[in-house]
Amino acid sequence: MALKTPQQYIDSLRDGRVIYWEGERIEDITTHPLFKVPLSLVAADYEYRDPEVGELRRYQTEDGSFAHRIYQVPRTSEDLAARVELMKHTSIGTLVAGVYMALMSVKDDVARVNPMYAENIERMYRHCRDNDLRGAEVITDPKGDRKRRAHEQDDPDLYLRIVERRADGIVVRGAKLHITAASIVHELVVMPTKGMRPEEADYAVSFSIPVNTPGVKIINRSFAPAELNSFDYPASSHHSCPEGFVVFDDVFVPWDRVFLAGESQLAGTLARSLGLWERTGGVVEAVRMSELFVGLAQLVTEMQGKDSDPIAQNSIAELITYAEMLRMSLDYACQHFESTESGMVFPNTLAINAAKYYYAANYHQTVRYLHDLGGGLVLTLPLEADLRNPESGKYIRKYLHTRKGVDIEARMRVYNMIRDLTADAYGGWQFVVALQAGGGLPAQRTMMNRTYNMAQAKQRALKAAGVVMPQPAGTVHG
Ligand SMILES: Cc1cc2nc3c(=O)[nH]c(=O)nc-3n(C[C@H](O)[C@H](O)[C@H](O)COP(=O)(O)OP(=O)(O)OC[C@H]3O[C@@H](n4cnc5c(N)ncnc54)[C@H](O)[C@@H]3O)c2cc1C
Repeated sequence: MALKTPQQYIDSLRDGRVIYWEGERIEDITTHPLFKVPLSLVAADYEYRDPEVGELRRYQTEDGSFAHRIYQVPRTSEDLAARVELMKHTSIGTLVAGVYMALMSVKDDVARVNPMYAENIERMYRHCRDNDLRGAEVITDPKGDRKRRAHEQDDPDLYLRIVERRADGIVVRGAKLHITAASIVHELVVMPTKGMRPEEADYAVSFSIPVNTPGVKIINRSFAPAELNSFDYPASSHHSCPEGFVVFDDVFVPWDRVFLAGESQLAGTLARSLGLWERTGGVVEAVRMSELFVGLAQLVTEMQGKDSDPIAQNSIAELITYAEMLRMSLDYACQHFESTESGMVFPNTLAINAAKYYYAANYHQTVRYLHDLGGGLVLTLPLEADLRNPESGKYIRKYLHTRKGVDIEARMRVYNMIRDLTADAYGGWQFVVALQAGGGLPAQRTMMNRTYNMAQAKQRALKAAGVVMPQPAGTVHG
């Protein structure tokens, strides 16, 4: 088995998958203009000879072969640090293959309930690693009426479910929504969206299947469907990746690809496992974005001659606080890592959830500082084409002058970055991503309540309040 080249990755997607976008059934995504940017981004992650990050991208497996580092199961704090560094240089279409880390992190728990599922996890992990494949995180069900459980919905398919159990496998029906990169990966790694009760056993289902499996259909959506000019759209022109509305129309899954089929007690374990790695990715991205916000705020302020203004300085201090709180939380989560019984290390669960919550809960008001400092040009700055047209360009150059030494094109680029990142198509998408991707605020609140050392907090509060608790019976006083 060998690492793929960027072209081999592209060629591997020509496999008969059923893909829809903008009303069209797309027979070959590798030549379709809508997929050009997303495919080039994921293909770049297959560039193992890149002089800057090629080495970071790959690692040597226990068999002596090389694999993409997204598949490295962290065993030490150094492995974890390398993984976090990798995340900064990797497209989201590759990062979602981190779903196999989630599966590997719960393999011990799964083995206790059914060893066959744990063996399937291990085999599928190796299959994807050794063939340099990518897999999407396929979790979120349509969910219908949120007040009713999976089996109580008007339509029983509103949560993905097992409709048939056969000697050779299971047949599943349902849909999963918002699935990042579903159309441009090789495997769909399906997990339950939440914990399930015994009466919802058919909904406790997890497996991995190729995207071109008969019955799978993907309808796409993206904030940047067209190819965009990088002067006017410095963020959207590089970051676009479609989300998929994935339909499972009576899809057969052989037993050797099944990780869960009815043992409802494991549904919550699998659902929660992904949250940690998803949120770690979210926090890494938050650190990058928040640092960008500080730089953009300082630049736009200096370019307007407002850098000594106390109000501007206060706003920038708010942005710095946000950025530093996130950076420190990520560092803390990696330094205070946890580990599974079999020695896999993972970021501190409480710290990652608190960081992701802080990021999401404060994102909208933090962006407000940037919009306030930027002013109306954030939205109304003319396009590059009007700058390049000598008739209109001379006025743009004249009236965008602020002070000596401020280059007009540099000023325009800074404004374009602020608009694209926070106030245009990518910016609007990012407002919702910050809140919802990796689970909404309630998901992080639940995890924080579950993992905080409440017994210690209560004990310290009682001591501080002077409350003397009765000693448990049988306690010997020395
Ligand atoms: C850009 C993007 C990319 C994503 N990528 C992926 C992906 O790759 N894979 C994946 O699986 N998912 C993905 N998601 C989905 C994401 O995890 C969900 O959007 C998120 O978990 C919220 O679920 P929901 O969208 O169904 O909203 P809902 O669950 O409907 O939540 C909306 C609101 O309703 C509230 N609510 C929900 N249920 C109840 C209830 N019972 N009682 C009271 N209030 C309730 C919530 O608290 C929230 O305030 C992505 C989402 C986005 C926006």
